Amino acid sequence: MSESLSQQDISEILDWQQKIAIANHNNIFCHCRTCGYEWVDSTFDAICPTCTSKPDD
Ligand SMILES: [Zn+2]
Repeated sequence: MSESLSQQDISEILDWQQKIAIANHNNIFCHCRTCGYEWVDSTFDAICPTCTSKPDD
């Protein structure tokens, strides 16, 4: 298991780590006014994961 990572693999890992870091930094509490679902996301305009409605339409 000494397979070296390609440049593409590395950039994908960095991209993924950056997304996780952004999500951890923001931790925005979202509340869906359509179905009442509550979750934590990294953006204020996150789409509801249960009913896929956007907040503030
Ligand atoms: Zn919803």
